[in-house]
Formats: sequence, C-alpha cells, structure tokens
Amino acid sequence: MSALYATYARSEASFERGEGMRLFDQHGREYLDFHSGVAVNALGHGDPHLVSALKAAADKVWHTANTFTIPEQERLGQRLVDATFADAVFFTNSGAEAIECAIKTARHYFWAKGQGERYEVIAFSGSFHGRTLGTIAAGGNPDYLQGFGPAAPGFKHAKPGDLDSVKALITPETCAILIEPVQGEGGVTAMSSEFMQGLRKLCDDNDMLLILDEVQCGFGRTGRFFAYEWSGITPDIVAVAKAIGGGFPLGACLAKGDVAASMVPGTHGSTYGGNPLATAVGNAVLDRILAPGFIDNVNAMGQRLSWHLQQLAQKYPDYVLELRGKGLLSGIKLSTPARDMVTRLRDDHQFLCIGAGDNVLRLLPPLIVSEADIELAMEKISAAFDAIEAEAAAAPAAS
Ligand SMILES: *Cc1c(COP(=O)(O)O)cnc(C)c1O
Repeated sequence: MSALYATYARSEASFERGEGMRLFDQHGREYLDFHSGVAVNALGHGDPHLVSALKAAADKVWHTANTFTIPEQERLGQRLVDATFADAVFFTNSGAEAIECAIKTARHYFWAKGQGERYEVIAFSGSFHGRTLGTIAAGGNPDYLQGFGPAAPGFKHAKPGDLDSVKALITPETCAILIEPVQGEGGVTAMSSEFMQGLRKLCDDNDMLLILDEVQCGFGRTGRFFAYEWSGITPDIVAVAKAIGGGFPLGACLAKGDVAASMVPGTHGSTYGGNPLATAVGNAVLDRILAPGFIDNVNAMGQRLSWHLQQLAQKYPDYVLELRGKGLLSGIKLSTPARDMVTRLRDDHQFLCIGAGDNVLRLLPPLIVSEADIELAMEKISAAFDAIEAEAAAAPAAS
C-alpha cells in the first residue's frame, strides 16, 4: 500500500535508466518513449549537455532568494526576450504558476490604468491550464472543478474555432482572451491560423490582451519555437513550462514590456522560481533547441510523423477515426478506448504514449526523435491493432 495520495492511476513500471528516446524499467525492459513525461523531456533522457550543466550548477550556489541577482536567470530571461515577442520574463516552477502569473499580469495591467473592473478572462471549452484553484477555473473542466467549492470568479468559456462565441462573451469587464494554440490534454486540437488571427483582431478592437498557453505546444514542439509563429500573430503574454527545463521543474511567463510594467515589487513572487539550478538547466536546454537546424529538424520529423500516421489511418480505418495536432504534438482519435490502448502499448509493446480527452491517443516524442523511431512506433501501434483484431476474432461472436 503506497503512502502517496491516490491522485494518479499509477502503473507499476518504474524507470531506472534513460538514454535518448529510450527508457529501461526495473526489469531491464526497454521502452520507446513517445510520452516524454508529458512533453517535458524535449531532449530525451540523459542528454550529456544537460547533465553536465546540472552537475556544474550543483557545485555552485543551489539557491538564493529572488531578491538577489541570479546570473543564470538574467541570462535565460534575456535569451527568451531576444528569441520572442517578449520584453520581460517571470520565472516559475510549473505551468500552472506560469498561467497564474499571466492572468495576474493581465488583470493588474488594467487595474494600474484605473480599470480594475476589467478582470474577466475568456477561455475555451476543452482547454487545460493546470490544477491550482485559479487554473481549474480557467480550464473550466467540470470534472476538475467538482468538489472544490465555488470556481474562482472571472472566467467564461467560448468554443474553440468559433469567433462568434468569443464575441458574444465580450463585456466591459473583459480583460483578456486565454487560449492554447494547440489544445493538448483536451484532445490535441490545433487552432487554425485564421482563428488565431481573428482572436488577435478581437483583442485589438476591444483593447483586450491575448494570452497564450504554450506550456505544452511551445518550445519547438510544433516545428516552430512557439506555436503562435505559425499564424503570424504577436501575443501579449505567453505562459511556458514543460520542455523549458527538459525535466528540471521550470516555467516562465513572457510578456510585452508595457503589459508587464505594472508588476512592480510586492505584486508577485515565487520562492524557487528561476533559481540557479533550474535556470542553469534552462540555459542548456535553450542551447540545444535554438542551435541552428534543431527546430527545422523537429518540423521535418513532425511532417514525417504525420505522413506515417496517414498510412496507419489508411491501413486501420476501423480503429483510426481522425488524426489531429501539429508537429510532434499529435493525436489519434480511436474507436476503441484510448486508455486501454495506452496500457496495451505500454505492457505488451513497450511503447509509451498518453491519452487525451475525446478518446485520443496522444504522441509526444522527445524532439530528438528520428524517422527510424517513428517507423518503430508505427510498427508497435500496428501490432497493437492487429492484436485487438485477433482477440475480437477469437472471442465468441456476440449475438
Ligand atoms: C501541463 C499543462 C499546464 C500545467 O502545467 P503544470 O506544470 O502541471 O502546472 C498548463 N497548461 C497546459 C497547456 C499544459 O499542458
């Protein structure tokens, strides 16, 4: 009996060693990792550059409060500013905290302009923004809100892809729109460029801020550094986490300078956020992801994955209902229960992936995936479909 909260349906599999795209469990069994600890292990396992950065940081000062200057944090912040739309960065330990900072920044921006009544955020059904009291209200998933008292006020939910449903929710109290450019956990749904451009225009026309949750889809995963780049828009605030630390807990809220300007001493804080260990690793992750050709290769592998998935869909039309996503954030909507498929792939085929809402099998390989890895993944998924078919044929026909 485990001493831990029973909040996760845990498998007994426990990984002792990792090497690139592969993990090895306590029995020495080798698994192909298309899960990446939920899009976190962007550089796979045991990347030598990350390992040496963390070891070097461990020999220095591990932690100081954020009231002192942390050189690695200054450097990582400046590099993120140089590589994006942003002028200012606040570091956190997680995605939910990055979203909290984003929402607080938007509300405070209007409050400082004497418009404190503008605090409402328009978010979307099917979205996921984290598990704090604020971010479950932002996500609006009734399953995650149930039993935790009244939802934090100030969030309304529109329909993804439906601009009219967004317009209908705009009031004099609205301060921002909050959206994942590619919904991850909700079912791997990519927003169209037209929709993202429409949201930008709605924000411009109504003096609202556009907040993007790129915690899962950002940092190279879709084949661009950030997913918003595909639509050519410029956001006002972007929340980042997961891949930014490559496995070390780290997140960030990026903002335009005028938007972040009201976040002065006393308005926000985090004890650990951006500490020397975390930002040393963050800088090492950035070295790899922004190296010439890295993201281009992610884009190429995303296209290969998409091509192979189309072949799979043609071969197994009874099982594959729809292909979704963008780049290396991809989903297969299944006719059979996705949760059972995740378990079957893990236990029978040593293949790690993850479910998503709407009965979708989510594939999130490390960004270092090769086409040979993708081909092996397709073989394993095909073998699982074949096994399901064989079991159905062997079972007595239901009459
Ligand atoms: C994972 C995730 C979060 C929450 O991140 P945590 O680090 O678990 O707090 C928020 N938004 C999106 C899109 C995510 O995928």
